[in-house]
Amino acid sequence: MSSIIIELELDAAGKTLAEVEAAVMAGMRRQVGPALQEELSAVVAQVGVTACPGCHGPRRGRGVERRRITGLFGSVVIARQRVECVPCATTSYPADVQLGIEPGERYSLGVAETALWLATDSSYAKSSGSMSQLLAVGISHGQIHRLAQREGQLIAGAWDALRQRVFGDGDRTVLADLEGTTPAPDLAVIQADGTFVHDRGAGERMEAKGGIVYTGRAEVSKGRRRLLGKRTFCSLDGMTGFGEKLALVAAQAGAFRARELWFVSDGSTALRNLRRQHFPTAIPFLDVWHLEKRLAEALGDNASQQSLAPLMSRALIGDVDALIEALAEHWAEETDDQERHQRLGEVLQYVDANREGIVSYARRGAQASSPIEKVMDVVIGRRLKAKGTSWHRPGADRILHLRVLKENRSWDRYWAARRSRTSITAALAA
Ligand SMILES: [Zn+2]
Repeated sequence: MSSIIIELELDAAGKTLAEVEAAVMAGMRRQVGPALQEELSAVVAQVGVTACPGCHGPRRGRGVERRRITGLFGSVVIARQRVECVPCATTSYPADVQLGIEPGERYSLGVAETALWLATDSSYAKSSGSMSQLLAVGISHGQIHRLAQREGQLIAGAWDALRQRVFGDGDRTVLADLEGTTPAPDLAVIQADGTFVHDRGAGERMEAKGGIVYTGRAEVSKGRRRLLGKRTFCSLDGMTGFGEKLALVAAQAGAFRARELWFVSDGSTALRNLRRQHFPTAIPFLDVWHLEKRLAEALGDNASQQSLAPLMSRALIGDVDALIEALAEHWAEETDDQERHQRLGEVLQYVDANREGIVSYARRGAQASSPIEKVMDVVIGRRLKAKGTSWHRPGADRILHLRVLKENRSWDRYWAARRSRTSITAALAA
């Protein structure tokens, strides 16, 4: 145990609060850095030459090497011993291992966390400016970008590893572990959607995907219910990879043990397949606003309340046959306008393909997927579709994982796990 005692000489007489505050801040910065340096040097000097972790044989000291780390209180220099195991032909720095400083890293985890908190919401260049202005920490936009890649890769890697164990190796005990002791919810609701992001690599578009798992519902006022226990997952994976990871998130939330499991989407072919493949026990729902929009578009200028309302009233009671019959009449009557005739034909197919998702309205009421659309806009759109941005697939995937940490309020838990070198998979599950 040791204490860092900071002595500040203050002369507040005749000063404004702002002046006093600025002087205290400057004084603290000046003193904490050197104090931390002194403490660290003492700790590093105590680190002995430990046995080789490979062969358990003795190792030899090979001189002292200095290493500089930029932290939240300025930079510190660590003069640590290099040790060598002759039989294994390996060298190592026991002090680095003890302090948890990653090989070759120039920045502390505290700097990484703060810079990435900024970079998840604004550009790397702006984050670099904020680090300098707010914390007097010099870190370039390129270095923040590198840290985002490193950290996002760790999270993506944890998901990939979990996915491999469950779906690749077929280790179902992992699923049981994930579900753990989570109480079985009455109702779990999955929502999923996709959105296109500009791909810098291929010069085309790539699809970012998002999903939400809810595991509760409460009545907020008479007749108005709100979904609770929200967990969000987003990635740039293909449909299968995304579906499997969303299923893992659902398992963690206990969704598969719910009395009822619902799946709400806009009824695209890809999402219908995703439901069949990864949530086969879920009751499908077609987002009611998409249905209404598609019907209105197909009716075109004729989309007066007079023609739309009867269609919607058939849909809302889940009577798909009556809806199709009414649509078919419009389709048959529309002989003048070829384009409208075709649109009506397409919406007929759309309704028929989403039959199950409309039939579900009958017993459980129509459902909307507005929450996932908000996630697509806020979590994905605001950073990945910001003006002047384009992304390479891995970079977009990594920054998305960091943004999801914030969205799920698991940011602090994640960084606590990183600092203490405990499993980040557990932190992601929460
Ligand atoms: Zn050895």
